[in-house]
Amino acid sequence: MSQISEPAIEAPDIGANLARVRAAVAAAAGDSGRQADDVTLVAVSKTHGEDRILPAITAGQLVFGENRVQEAEGKWPDLKARFPESRLHLIGPLQTNKVRHAVALFDVIETVDRPKLARALAKEMAKQDRRPGCYIQVNTGEEEQKAGIWPEGADDFIALCREELALPIAGLMCIPPMDEECSLHFALLREIARRNDLTGLSMGMSADYETAIQFGATLVRVGTAIFGEREPYPR
Ligand SMILES: *Cc1c(COP(=O)(O)O)cnc(C)c1O
Repeated sequence: MSQISEPAIEAPDIGANLARVRAAVAAAAGDSGRQADDVTLVAVSKTHGEDRILPAITAGQLVFGENRVQEAEGKWPDLKARFPESRLHLIGPLQTNKVRHAVALFDVIETVDRPKLARALAKEMAKQDRRPGCYIQVNTGEEEQKAGIWPEGADDFIALCREELALPIAGLMCIPPMDEECSLHFALLREIARRNDLTGLSMGMSADYETAIQFGATLVRVGTAIFGEREPYPR
């Protein structure tokens, strides 16, 4: 009688993955005449639990990204209490009814993309006296279904955020379309930042972070290359 067993799913070696990604970040930075620490590696831990986050912290990773406020609220207050130096970035779309929670929990909000949200953030930051750094998400691919201010509206929106609302805008963020050459989008984001005197550029994910660094990324958001494949969110 033979027993059929599932092949064991190997847990990723997160320490080794992190070391590999860090080395690649340093190499890409060096290639473009920059220092490794000019680029912040954001470890995207969405869908993963402590079993994967703790090994990353043990390996010295302190900056993490989550794309859902509610999910982050379920796992990060406890982790932040235990690891007070950890920094949490919101990298997913933010609804105005979650602004209070987002301002309370996140250290950086990368997805400011419309006036209504910007106004709600300004108001909430004043109320809580807490000012997470902000990035403006630009929809460089002009995709209808995707978040982000379109390139033609970016300059006015940046001005609104900085001048009228005095939000702490650190830079710009983009997620290029899946099926297009990413470098065109990275170059466009860099150009919008340049003409607005912004230095922060959040661009690049597991598949393209080295290219993004060559185009000037100061933040790269890397999930799969560190934590392994994700289970899809239930629909
Ligand atoms: C999930 C996610 C990432 C990480 O993607 P990987 O391909 O797993 O590296 C980066 N940025 C955003 C906005 C994401 O939602």
